[in-house]
Amino acid sequence: MLERAQPETATIDEILERARRCEGLTLDEAAHLLHADPRHDAAFFDAAREVKDRLYGRRVVLFAPLYISNHCTNNCLYCAFRRDNTSLHRRHLNQEEVAEQTRALIRMGHKRILLEAGEDFHSLPFQAVLDSIETIYRTKIGDNGIRRVNVNVAATSVENYRRLRRAHIGTYQLFQETYHRPTYEYMHPDGPKADYLYHLTAMERAIEGGIDDYGIGVLFGLYDYRYETLALIAHADYLRTHYGVGPHTVSVPRLQSAPGVDLQPPAPVGDRAFKRLVAILRLALPYTGLILSTRESEKMRDFLLDVGISQMSAASQTTPGGYGGEQATDRQFTTHDDRSLEACVRDIVRRGYVPSFCTGCYRKDRTGEDFMSMVETGEIRHLCDPNALLTLAEYLQDHATSKTQAAVSGSWPDLLEEIHDPHLRKVTREGIERIQAGERDVYL
Ligand code: SAM
Ligand code: SF4
Repeated sequence: MLERAQPETATIDEILERARRCEGLTLDEAAHLLHADPRHDAAFFDAAREVKDRLYGRRVVLFAPLYISNHCTNNCLYCAFRRDNTSLHRRHLNQEEVAEQTRALIRMGHKRILLEAGEDFHSLPFQAVLDSIETIYRTKIGDNGIRRVNVNVAATSVENYRRLRRAHIGTYQLFQETYHRPTYEYMHPDGPKADYLYHLTAMERAIEGGIDDYGIGVLFGLYDYRYETLALIAHADYLRTHYGVGPHTVSVPRLQSAPGVDLQPPAPVGDRAFKRLVAILRLALPYTGLILSTRESEKMRDFLLDVGISQMSAASQTTPGGYGGEQATDRQFTTHDDRSLEACVRDIVRRGYVPSFCTGCYRKDRTGEDFMSMVETGEIRHLCDPNALLTLAEYLQDHATSKTQAAVSGSWPDLLEEIHDPHLRKVTREGIERIQAGERDVYL
């Protein structure tokens, strides 16, 4: 599928026409687009923006990672947490430290956390992951707290996935890193993660353990991006066909330099190819959330907002204990967008999007196939747009400076106009007024 001639313009137009109708892409069509001449890129970006706007509206969900441990028995050649990196200061957080980090994130205004950890059952037994989830949910400043904990921890057993499910996690995420088996085996020379098939089948165990909300991803830069993009699409299709529920999210981390790591990116993905693959993923998997992290620069993140990204981390630290203290040096990898959460909020609004801290679907049990079918019928937009505005209003009241409040207030009429249904617009306007009068956690 990777060996093919450049497709004709007419073929591309036909593929894009179907994709614009949110019908997705077959693997063959995705391969065509991956091989198209770069002069078609603008048309891909356009189509991707249209699909995202139609299904999800203008909202962009914001979250932050919380690293609870950088101990790791794996030896992934690309990662600063790898076992053989002796220059890294190792640390795992106790529950009071997890609470302290959570308070720092609450003070910033975050409502969603992605819990992350290295894999080391001696220093971090699975129970410590569960305890940390409970601590995060329990930690409050007044009535203010984290409302959704997503989790990105190592592939594990059905029983442990069941325990994660019982701990009320949001999305369980795990990246395949590379689908190309020889590259995978080279990159993961030892430790539990060295087992390609165990890693590849993690989501099947997660689903068996009752997790219907899961996210997949690739670490772009390890192998040919066209192969990886097709494999991601194939993996999503496979899971959807066999288990009745496709991935809730797809993440697109790109390989970055990391302290104590001297791996040269084996298959670097340039900016142009990266933009193109994001657009193709949006077209291929229209109903899936697409996540972009602070690995990417402000400029790239701004650009990709227009190409179908629907979730972003903001103001991230990739070291355990990294929030609220001194600038941490022992990062998992280098990040390139160091804006504060407030600056991200302002910039997103300036670009005509709505930063969202919404956790409504998860708390109303709109997950798994229920959520997917609501995206497919376009219903979710009617909830996402109002909920994004309601959570933005709450953020502005509780966390923003007057400068940001003033900057965003001017946009309220335009943002409300995006809600086309007059009744919903009225309900949203009233909700915003209730929040401004002191009510909290208003959502549909
Ligand atoms: N340790 C678990 C694992 O590897 O599955 C949990 C996730 S790890 C903390 C988060 C992710 O960071 C990894 O899945 C990998 O894709 C990514 N990562 C590691 N090193 C990286 C690097 N140098 N540049 C960009 N992303 C990196
Ligand atoms: Fe450990 Fe995950 Fe880093 Fe691999 S990517 S060394 S498993 S933390």
